[in-house]
Amino acid sequence: MPSFQKYFAYCLLTTSLYLLLFSCKNEMPKLVCESAIVSKIPDGAPKYSDVCLSSRWERPRNELDTFDTFHATEAFHATRLNWVYTNNPEFIQKAKNQNLKIQIALTPTLPDLPLGTSTREIGRIQDTLGHLATAPWMKNWKLWWGCVNNPDFQDIYWQNIKSALDAGAHDFQVDDPAFASALVRNEWEDVCHCKYCTAEAQKLGKTPSEIQEESVIVFHQRMKTKASQYAGHPIAFSCNNFRGDWELFPHDFFDYGIAEAPIRRGNPEYIYAALRETRRRGKAQIFSFVSDKTWLIQKVLASTYASGGNLLVPWDVWQGGGKPRYFGKEEDFAHYYDFVRQNEKYFDGYEDAYYTNTQIENRYVDFEEIPLYFSEYRRNFHAFIRAKPQNKQAPVIIHLVDWEIPNVDSTKIILNEEFFFDKGIGEVKLIEPINTTKPKDYKAKISHTKTPKKLIITIPKLENHWGLLVLYPN
Ligand SMILES: [Zn+2]
Repeated sequence: MPSFQKYFAYCLLTTSLYLLLFSCKNEMPKLVCESAIVSKIPDGAPKYSDVCLSSRWERPRNELDTFDTFHATEAFHATRLNWVYTNNPEFIQKAKNQNLKIQIALTPTLPDLPLGTSTREIGRIQDTLGHLATAPWMKNWKLWWGCVNNPDFQDIYWQNIKSALDAGAHDFQVDDPAFASALVRNEWEDVCHCKYCTAEAQKLGKTPSEIQEESVIVFHQRMKTKASQYAGHPIAFSCNNFRGDWELFPHDFFDYGIAEAPIRRGNPEYIYAALRETRRRGKAQIFSFVSDKTWLIQKVLASTYASGGNLLVPWDVWQGGGKPRYFGKEEDFAHYYDFVRQNEKYFDGYEDAYYTNTQIENRYVDFEEIPLYFSEYRRNFHAFIRAKPQNKQAPVIIHLVDWEIPNVDSTKIILNEEFFFDKGIGEVKLIEPINTTKPKDYKAKISHTKTPKKLIITIPKLENHWGLLVLYPN
């Protein structure tokens, strides 16, 4: 055969192979359960179906305080009591007896020993003149920060952990986890010039401020190891990672984060992206949303759970700017958390498989190549698909969250069936959080039309912003 003919035959064969491969790819889309990846939930971190409430202190705090910690945990269906500043064994024991996983807060400002004193002078960070140091806004309150290299402060920190574990504490939240390195990083102070840091710096041939980051990690690791050995099982340590950030030192050391999400981050795109990164790193995240707008908190709550995170019950929530702490009402939020608890089987074991919203435009996106799309783009409606990784028989859950104001009367969604199950979608049901003040016969209605390979579903108005579409295989 002449060589040009051989070449021609070779080209023909290669092209056909490419065409064959290409058509195979198109015939077999990846199922959503194959896009979902098992993410590691660190030992002791919250599950997707957990309800986390923080009573920042034991309440009532005094005779004038009308709020009660254990009334709130019951009313909001809490399973965990997070970020509590206490070393009162009776309070910790009481929480444990009520089946709450109680988490004790640790900070660089823990008071001197013995437990119960109020001064903060022993084992503290020192500036170049030997004066005690702290964050600028804490100076007037004399809340001096402890030094991680000082054995006296190490003892203070450990005694708090030990006594909390003895009383039944489940895990620990560390506020201001960067210790002296935060003072250095923000150029608030040149620290720490205590004798322990000075000696350590000399040994390493560095300045005292240069050794802080590595000293802080050694300190946290030592405390976690000691706590886990003392308890006989791994003890989780979370930290305050503002807005869900893992890159700022030393957030990535911790098992999970509990952090304020500022109001400008209260949108579904950010929440989804932050939680996707959290899971990619094998971490978990609880957000505390800084807002007092009921409808906005409700939408954030739905979006956070839909993305595989937990939203702290909006009760005893820091508002910043000297505003009083926010205490959301039971009638506004309890039914959401009840909904999560009642449907835990649709949360635990499920992972992110796809996210989209009404505002995707189609010039470069082929709607036939994605599992779900909307018929109407002038809206603000979001869909979070969650599936059990590699499980083709388990129902697929689509969290629908309406971000329109006011909520839309109905929304049409189109599902490309071949992405969901091998033999298409069978039964479909819609479940929603129901506020008990509404009539009990309130029910969601779904109308669906089957055309080849597509399921078109008209979702009725989501009165409470959130609905779970449960899809079963054929
Ligand atoms: Zn020091």
